Amino acid sequence: MRLSEAFQTEVISVVGRDAFELRQDPLREWTTNTLDSPRTLTGIVKPKSQEETMAVVRLCVKHKVPYYPVSSGKNWGYGGATPVCDDVLILDLSGLKRIIEFNADLSYVVVEPGVTQQDLYEYMQLRNHSFMVPTTGAGPNVSLMGNAMERGYGITPEEDHFLSVLALKAILPDGRLYQSALSELGGAYSDKVFKWKIGPYLDGLFAQSNLGVVLEATLGLVHQPENVTQFVVFLDDEEFETGVHAVKTLRQKLGGLLGGVNLMNKRRLLAMVDDQWSQEKTLDEIRVIEHAKKNGVPDWAIVGALYGPNDLVQGANRIIKTECRHFSRKVVCLSRRKYEWANRLLKHLPFKKLKMQLANVGRALEILEGKPSNVALPLAYLKNKKGHPVGELNPDKDDCGLLWFSPLVPMDAPVVRDYVQEVTEICLAHEIDPMITLTAFSSRCFDSTIPILFSKQVAGDAENAKKCYEKLLKECSRMGFFPYRLNIDQMNGLFENPNVPAFWMAQQIKNALDPDHLMAPGRYIHHRKP
Ligand SMILES: Cc1cc2nc3c(=O)[nH]c(=O)nc-3n(C[C@H](O)[C@H](O)[C@H](O)COP(=O)(O)OP(=O)(O)OC[C@H]3O[C@@H](n4cnc5c(N)ncnc54)[C@H](O)[C@@H]3O)c2cc1C
Repeated sequence: MRLSEAFQTEVISVVGRDAFELRQDPLREWTTNTLDSPRTLTGIVKPKSQEETMAVVRLCVKHKVPYYPVSSGKNWGYGGATPVCDDVLILDLSGLKRIIEFNADLSYVVVEPGVTQQDLYEYMQLRNHSFMVPTTGAGPNVSLMGNAMERGYGITPEEDHFLSVLALKAILPDGRLYQSALSELGGAYSDKVFKWKIGPYLDGLFAQSNLGVVLEATLGLVHQPENVTQFVVFLDDEEFETGVHAVKTLRQKLGGLLGGVNLMNKRRLLAMVDDQWSQEKTLDEIRVIEHAKKNGVPDWAIVGALYGPNDLVQGANRIIKTECRHFSRKVVCLSRRKYEWANRLLKHLPFKKLKMQLANVGRALEILEGKPSNVALPLAYLKNKKGHPVGELNPDKDDCGLLWFSPLVPMDAPVVRDYVQEVTEICLAHEIDPMITLTAFSSRCFDSTIPILFSKQVAGDAENAKKCYEKLLKECSRMGFFPYRLNIDQMNGLFENPNVPAFWMAQQIKNALDPDHLMAPGRYIHHRKP
């Protein structure tokens, strides 16, 4: 589909010719993604300010042009920058890079969509602000806003990134500007420090939806604590249920001292420590056990971090050891001080492998401390026969094959075991490595992330990976395990039935605000063709 001449002329008069891309090759490049699910685009427009963004949205309404906003467009494993439907204009907000306000006293920052983890890190370094960046595994160059709007989560104590969105401003699909009732009543300062506002909570409508383009968000930040200590608890498979129970108990006992806690299986752990893993095809259990033995990797490990003043973290360390020693053969706690000490010691010794492992631990420690890092990104390249580049990593552009399957699993040990068995069987039946992580959001619920990795360089691999995803979605949904977040191939279908009040309500709100379904059609709210 071609954009009308009139629309093109008016958009160019707002953003300039350089900020409006219509050539076919760049458009195709923009929707190359790790799912291997491209779409056709009508163009890409890159405004430089909130005013330009509002003007472009209003032009889209005037000319009935469907558009799709992205902040940095690096929603890797869920579709990247690719819209849900074909023939859509990308609204690339990565050029809106202002940090509008930083309130060190009340621990919040107001950012525009293009501000990345690294931008915030550098901003704080320059001004000696000792707060943690809300880091994720996606690394330094992804936006804070896009991640929050997908309700992504991270590693530091501010794990739930939409929970840390205290306030926002958005342009509604009809062109009007939205801010909360509290702000409208004159309480703009209170608005930034009190998430729930007054009256119906409407800010939440903008996450995992298509009801407005968010122009700025206020994010709560957490101070850099005196002590960050990483801990690892080794588990044999027979102790899995005890391990689940221990995670729950630790979350209950340690509250805010505990950051994200992950329970990971040995295939997921091996992918982090074994450099030969990537060369292999999916291994049978016997070979996996051999690899695990060689690398000193247990069946399962609880991996987490403690945050707080020295005394409290040391006390929490003792609680972890007491809780876990009776069922675990190894509990390791490593603070930055201990890490530096081990590093100094190893410098003068010949143990190459140990040095490499310690370097990995150091990188993991950095990201836990709120310093953005690429440490997790190589996972996306494990099946990529081209390997990964030396410079900036971008799994979409580097031809990686990855679909994240990320269902919610109640923290009830037998239920979690059933889930693990089901996922393992389905993945192995499709010759996909079942790499399982269970992240404890709270003391009640895990979010599990399964990276379905495949090679785009091998014919048939992508189709097989999609079949595996669909089977996982079908069988896990049947068991009650639904994803907390969807990829672009699944977003439109799941919410179709208009007789279900929850779906119907969302569709009614969409119809009221955006009767022609122009903004991000199909994104989490069913798109009926206008
Ligand atoms: C190895 C690896 C590790 C990863 N680790 C994590 C992790 O730890 N946690 C995690 O959450 N994710 C993770 N991801 C997934 C993903 O890369 C991140 O979530 C990333 O932050 C999302 O990309 P983005 O910030 O560029 O968001 P975008 O792609 O810019 O935005 C995501 C979606 O939100 C909507 N949106 C964006 N901006 C706006 C706006 N201003 N207004 C309205 N709607 C908007 C759009 O529909 C867009 O498609 C990982 C991916 C990989 C490959």
